[in-house]
Parts: sequence; C-alpha cells; structure tokens
Amino acid sequence: MTSSLPPLVDAHGHLQAERFTGDRTAVIERARAANMARLLIPSWDRESAAAGREIAAQLPWADAAIGIHPHVASIAPAERDALLSTADDPLIVAIGETGIDTDRNRSPLADQITNLEAHIAVACALGKPLIIHCRSVIGADDAQRQLLATLRASEIGQPGGAKAFAGRPAFVLHSASGPASYVEGALALGGAVSISGLAFRASEAATRDWVRIVPVDRLLTETDAPWLVMPGAPDQERNEPANVAYTLRWVAEQRGEEIAELAPRLVANYDRIFPRSAPRG
Ligand SMILES: [Zn+2]
Repeated sequence: MTSSLPPLVDAHGHLQAERFTGDRTAVIERARAANMARLLIPSWDRESAAAGREIAAQLPWADAAIGIHPHVASIAPAERDALLSTADDPLIVAIGETGIDTDRNRSPLADQITNLEAHIAVACALGKPLIIHCRSVIGADDAQRQLLATLRASEIGQPGGAKAFAGRPAFVLHSASGPASYVEGALALGGAVSISGLAFRASEAATRDWVRIVPVDRLLTETDAPWLVMPGAPDQERNEPANVAYTLRWVAEQRGEEIAELAPRLVANYDRIFPRSAPRG
C-alpha cells in the first residue's frame, strides 16, 4: 500500500505534545500509512524530554532530542545540567531544541545565550547535532545574527568545525526562516537546514529565494507538529507528521527536483546527520 509513496522525513515533530494525548496512536498510524521513514521528536524542557524519549523507544523509525527551549532558558542551571547529562543515551541523537527567540522574548537574551552555550558544549562533546530554534520579530534578524555570533565563537566556528562531528553538520536550523544572508551564514558554519510549514507564510517569502541554494546533502524537511500547519493539510488546527508530504512537495517544486529522487536523499541526510550510536530493533 505504501510502496508507491516516497519515504518521508519529519526531522522535527513533537509527538509528545499534549495536543496528541487523545489520539497519538492514530497520528502514528497515519504517519506510517504516509510512508514516514524517519521522525525526530525534539523536546523543550525536562518533562517533554522524558515523554519524547518514551515515545521514540517504542518506534524503531523514531529518535529523540533533548534540550531546553529559549522560551524557558531561565531554568536553574542545575536542572539543565541534570537533563543534558543524560544526552549520551543511544535513543538521543540530537541536542535541542534550543536557540534564540527575540520574537516572543519569553526569557532574557542573556539567559538564552547561556542556555545555548550549555547545549553547544554537550553537542560538541558527544558529536550529536544541535536542533536550533531561531526567531526574530517579522522583518528583523537580530536573533539570527546573535545565533550565528554565538556559534562562530564556539568550537563549531573553529576552522574545520567541532572535531566530534568529523565534518558532519554540527547543527540543524529547525523550521529555518529569515533572510538568505542568515542561511548562507549557517551553511558556511557547516550547518544543515530543515524546512517546515513556515515556508508557506507570506512573511517568509524569502525562503523561496534561498531554498534552492541549500546543498542537497544538507537539507531536511519537518512539520514542527502540532504547530505550523501548512495550507491544504486536512486539519488546519493541528499539524501532524504525515503532513510533511506537503512540505516535501513544495521543496521539490522550488528546487526543480523530482520528489522520487529528493525523498530518499532526505532519508540519507537524516541518517548521516543523526547517526545512531547503537542499533535499534
Ligand atoms: Zn519545535
């Protein structure tokens, strides 16, 4: 039934979110029926990290990421350290989501930078890439500039990048948005770029300019479910992993590539960017 469908990659789907509590099994079944091949479940705090890990443990095609979101960056350092100290778990393939958000500004910028730096240190120690959330108010790019400055000042910004990654991307711009100069800066630092439903918004029209210049081996797709539902999806109130097919189609169109060729490349990208440290059943 699914063999004719292209394999899908959702590099950022919050299956542990409360909004999936009532029908998570059905959401997972729809993802598989849509030929979901890989799913990364990122977290935003300690509770969501534990819940995401638990779900990933039950799905051989899913992995988890642990981190503290910039919205809650003012967390006690000991609490953050307690979470990040578990990052060597083989189910955890990435560190995040974390980053800089000056759009909603829910915690002071200084705390967001400290929080990001703590995640960078763990990512570079383990060779597990950062999942980066970065948003400025519409039309501005101060968060993006701060993010790049912090990355450049870290081990990731050194010639050749952080050693533990051995040339693999040390970070993924999740739900990448903003001007082309930002994306070019991230690519120059060796990062990968993940496209979400944000690309369909009029305020993010710049995505069309830069989505073509992302090297095909540094490209991912994602939903950010339950958020960022894209036009045309069946439920306009809640996004879900199966909907990443809309984003895949859009990215292929913008880049002038065949879905049948692009889709397996994204699966290969996922496996290269998020290598598992131990085989899974
Ligand atoms: Zn997210």
